[in-house]
Amino acid sequence: MKTIKDAVIIGAGASGLFAAAEAGLRGRRVVVLERSATMGNKIRVSGGGRCNFTNLNITADNYISPNPSFCKSALAVFTPDDFIQLAERYGVRYYEKEHGQLFCKGSSGEIISMLRRRCEEAEVTIIYNTKVHDIAKRGDVFVIVTSNGIFHCSSLCLATGGISYPQLGATPFGYRIAAQFGLKVNPTRSALVPFVFNAEDGTNYDGLAGISIEAVVTCNKMDFRGGVLLTQRGLSGPPILQASSYWRTGDYISINLMPVTDAYEFLLSRRKQKADLHNILIFPKNFARRWCEVHSYMKPVNQYNDNELHEIAAQLHNWKLFPAKTEGYKRAEAVTGGVDTGELSSKTMEAKKVRGLYFTGEVIDVTGQLGGYNLHWAWASGYACGSCM
Ligand SMILES: Cc1cc2nc3c(=O)[nH]c(=O)nc-3n(C[C@H](O)[C@H](O)[C@H](O)COP(=O)(O)OP(=O)(O)OC[C@H]3O[C@@H](n4cnc5c(N)ncnc54)[C@H](O)[C@@H]3O)c2cc1C
Repeated sequence: MKTIKDAVIIGAGASGLFAAAEAGLRGRRVVVLERSATMGNKIRVSGGGRCNFTNLNITADNYISPNPSFCKSALAVFTPDDFIQLAERYGVRYYEKEHGQLFCKGSSGEIISMLRRRCEEAEVTIIYNTKVHDIAKRGDVFVIVTSNGIFHCSSLCLATGGISYPQLGATPFGYRIAAQFGLKVNPTRSALVPFVFNAEDGTNYDGLAGISIEAVVTCNKMDFRGGVLLTQRGLSGPPILQASSYWRTGDYISINLMPVTDAYEFLLSRRKQKADLHNILIFPKNFARRWCEVHSYMKPVNQYNDNELHEIAAQLHNWKLFPAKTEGYKRAEAVTGGVDTGELSSKTMEAKKVRGLYFTGEVIDVTGQLGGYNLHWAWASGYACGSCM
């Protein structure tokens, strides 16, 4: 069976649904093809089920991309305020958690309902459980052969997301189609993902899972502050996830365990104490003890000389770790890499070489930091595409 539409969007995730509604509301006849049985699977689990859907303080600096300016145009046209107004119009209740991060008060299901209602209002057809077998372009028309029929359209958008969390439907399909049409696709890496200790640190810090320490984590000159969480296999928590996006195999991370206190002054003020060093450190007890054991700082404080106190202070400000690896795509909230931004118009997301072919969201080589930036990129790039496709 052949269906003729103005626009076909592959992927009923954040950016695909947003683009679909926008195009539909402009009067375009739109169909969305989704391989799984439901829409917005990543939105559902995002923000721990409460969906950190945008951030009040978005700038291009919050994104990693080979062209850091690429995202500017779309972010300027569709702002956090635009999304907030939309959310309010659809009755989504929200709150600011910290650092401008906006979360649903109820559940992320409210954002999915909003997207569903908008697609209904825009008379968008969504077809689930659809396997796309083949895509070709004949003249100005794309021919899409699927398990649910053949679709013809003048505008085709790949909104298939990044390859993290394959358990939620992520596939490299968008990259494959980009390559098929001669577009450059940059290698991917998992981002916003926990680290796995190397073998030695795995033994050193075994049994401390669940302990959280307020710290600053630095990786490749990027600093992130927050709670560092020890896990069964390594490290997690917001500053670790942030640092992972800038980390490459073999790099070290540095953890400042006393980010607001001068460690040397702190030790100096207690240097007459007979207590063991680990007993005066202001960290969870088990961690303080283990950290001191690993660093062989097991004497009472009053037995350290000045040079040693300087050395301990330096270690407290710069605890260097060489993670073995990250937890990989299965546990990553995002990926870096994807369709090269040089291939696309930053205003419309259309491929420069292939008229009518669009890419939106995470499939593009633009990756947000933790804090609502990735979903906002999905909305902004989806809006850019949906406004002109
Ligand atoms: C656990 C987790 C928590 C997150 N939390 C947040 C958060 O709180 N805030 C934030 O900003 N970001 C968060 N993110 C990231 C955010 O969810 C994504 O960046 C965003 O969903 C990307 O939107 P997208 O439209 O590009 O892709 P997706 O939303 O991933 O949508 C892609 C869609 O394409 C479909 N698809 C894939 N391949 C095919 C195919 N071959 N044929 C048909 N359909 C296909 C998929 O099934 C999916 O429905 C989180 C991610 C994860 C994994």
